[in-house]
Amino acid sequence: RIGTAALAVQVVGSNWPKPHYTLLVTGLCRFQILQLLKEKPYPVAEVEQLDRLEQFTNGHKTEEELGELSEQFYKYAVQLVEMLDMSVPAVAKLRRLLDNLPREALPDILTSIIRTTNQEKLQILDAVRLEERFKMTIPLLVRQIEGLKLLQKTRKSKQDDDKRVVAIRPNRRISHGSITEDEEEEEDHDDVVMLEKKIRTSSMSEQALKVCLKEIKRLKKMPQSMPEYALTRNYLELMVELPWNKSTKDRLEIRAARIVLDNDHYAMEKLKKRVLEYLAVRQLKNNLKGPILCFVGPPGVGKTSVGRSIAKTLGREFHRIALGGVCDQSDIRGHRRTYVGSMPGRIINGLKTVGVNNPVFLLDEVDKLAKSLQGDPAAALLEVLDPEQNHSFTDHYLNVAFDLSQVLFIATANTTATIPPALLDRMEVIQVPGYTQEEKIEIAHRHLIPKQLELHGLTPQQIQIPQVTTLGIITRYTREAGVRALDRKLGAICRAVAVKVAEGQHKEAKPDRAEVGEGEDCKEHVTEDAKPESISDTADLALPPEMPILIDFHALKDILGPPMYDMEVSERLNQPGVAIGLAWTPLGGEIMFVEASRMDGEGQLTLTGQLGDVMKESAHLAISWLRSNAKRYQLTNASGSFDLLDNTDIHLHFPAGAVTKDGPSAGVTIVTCLASLFSGRLVCSDVAMTGEITLRGLVLPVGGIKDKVLAAHRAGLKRIIIPQRNEKDLEEIAAHVRQDLTFVLAGCLDEVLNAAFDGGFAVKARLGHLNSKL
Ligand code: ADP
Repeated sequence: RIGTAALAVQVVGSNWPKPHYTLLVTGLCRFQILQLLKEKPYPVAEVEQLDRLEQFTNGHKTEEELGELSEQFYKYAVQLVEMLDMSVPAVAKLRRLLDNLPREALPDILTSIIRTTNQEKLQILDAVRLEERFKMTIPLLVRQIEGLKLLQKTRKSKQDDDKRVVAIRPNRRISHGSITEDEEEEEDHDDVVMLEKKIRTSSMSEQALKVCLKEIKRLKKMPQSMPEYALTRNYLELMVELPWNKSTKDRLEIRAARIVLDNDHYAMEKLKKRVLEYLAVRQLKNNLKGPILCFVGPPGVGKTSVGRSIAKTLGREFHRIALGGVCDQSDIRGHRRTYVGSMPGRIINGLKTVGVNNPVFLLDEVDKLAKSLQGDPAAALLEVLDPEQNHSFTDHYLNVAFDLSQVLFIATANTTATIPPALLDRMEVIQVPGYTQEEKIEIAHRHLIPKQLELHGLTPQQIQIPQVTTLGIITRYTREAGVRALDRKLGAICRAVAVKVAEGQHKEAKPDRAEVGEGEDCKEHVTEDAKPESISDTADLALPPEMPILIDFHALKDILGPPMYDMEVSERLNQPGVAIGLAWTPLGGEIMFVEASRMDGEGQLTLTGQLGDVMKESAHLAISWLRSNAKRYQLTNASGSFDLLDNTDIHLHFPAGAVTKDGPSAGVTIVTCLASLFSGRLVCSDVAMTGEITLRGLVLPVGGIKDKVLAAHRAGLKRIIIPQRNEKDLEEIAAHVRQDLTFVLAGCLDEVLNAAFDGGFAVKARLGHLNSKL
């Protein structure tokens, strides 16, 4: 309850970069709160002054004793001040003050200027009796004197006459006899000294050291309240923290690497093979300036986690840099320090985070770099990735070169189409295709389910997910090339089961509430043997043995809701003018229903479904080819004319309407769809197709065959028409997928149509002619 009354003399400070104020006050006296009158908006209290100095000087009882104490105190104080350098004006002034000020005021003043902790200062302030105050301050003075003696001894031996280390404060506070919160400032000063020491002992490059020493010199002269102070200090701290010379030791053993990769990832043989080759070459040739690997594939196929495994096998630190949406080159290369809020780029930041100069950096989503007025981040990345240049990468913020040549860069992307060509040129692309259903089931049971169980604190004794259930999730609740949605669904199941298990434990603790959670809306399907026991009221007598909660289709429906995807294929092909195409998207392959209808009109073609230019051209090509071959196939419009567009409008639609589509590979599908429309025949429901067409009716090869085939397989289709020249791509497809499907290799459109319709799509014109002859 004791406080110090003081007069505020000055307030200085700023709000930026962080609030920082210095309050200069003159202490008046000690006081005690008698009664708090009000608290808001500021406290008002009735107080009583405690130390009336005159009372001591005039009092008779203690005068003698006090006189002795104060005399002793004065002597120590003089001894202390005389040990300091008298040529410093502040010291001389202090010496004079010792004589001029009343003795009673000295303990307070000296405590504020000698080196004491806050705690000690508070203790002196708390000491109301002057005698007590003298007694408490003398040991502090003695301590300071001893400290100074020691310091001077070491100083002498070093012949160093730097006078700055005197433990005395600047004079302005002494003259006011004030108490200020200067501990912090002193700490800051110490910090700067420490920082300088760190800079000198750090292993930074010569160029960097030069810059840092220059900056620290400036920092010492700068007042703390200046915004630039914080900036410079942050800069120097970063420079000290950067791993200029610190690296981890590579422990590379190809056999161990193979085991790690195999343990962490199921399937992806091609990718693993290439990664092992890469690592093997690294083992043989240490400073490999090899290509930068770029994993390209749909989301959730394990690109990032393979990157992480590579770091693990090498024993290196791993850091992921997300580049999606980065449109400012300063994001890579940093901001110049002249800007407010400037900071280093992501590369330097990443190095600071990992603390070594040879981590594995995963540049995630390089295909999503954007351009803007702030420069092209891809151009900045070029410098980072180029082995010829990156040993002296200069971040704008650092403004000195940093050697990135030890960093192992790996990039990931969903498609190569949007990676800037110059960047693509520096990378070796490894395609990571989507997974088949069987692979997904294996991945789920080997990796995803154990991981989710651990995340949710469950054990295999508590939950059982059979393979058919996993297949059900894959086919009816997800439609993706990777396994990310599958992972999320498994997570949802584990959450639901965790609730049940937790409830069960609760139930065991309180057996009288045994039925809780056994209602119709119960989320799990309890196995037959477990049911009677858990329902029975005798549960308290013999607790049921723990049965795993079995996730079957009922449970799936309860937890995940009704299935999101149905096998809708056969349903949708029940009228002429619909065909199934195969499309490739950065998210993997997809099946696509192409719909066509005709109506009376003036020969116009309407295309909907957000088509790109190439796709529109494919549609025109398809119509032209059909018109020129209408007679051959006996295709007529509604009025029986071979000119298909005569008085007829055609509308072609590509669902899903909101997704932009482009590319030539829908050509064969459009032809088939229109052939069905004009012939009135249904396209087989289990056929999907892809291929580019020419005006002469040839079928040209297209890309993404593997992803497309997998999509068709996922959708339960049986026959796939692909261009003949894509035959080689079939080798990449897993044998069990190939077994389930029939491939038709088509070189021309006649072959496509023959395969797409049940019983073929025969050329009819000549036939009719011959018949009439007979
Ligand atoms: P991407 O980077 O390709 O989008 P991630 O690497 O983030 O995908 O993978 C998503 C999740 O799927 C991760 O938890 C990963 O462990 C898992 N995963 C993907 N492929 C496999 C695989 N072949 N074996 C085991 N787990 C896999």
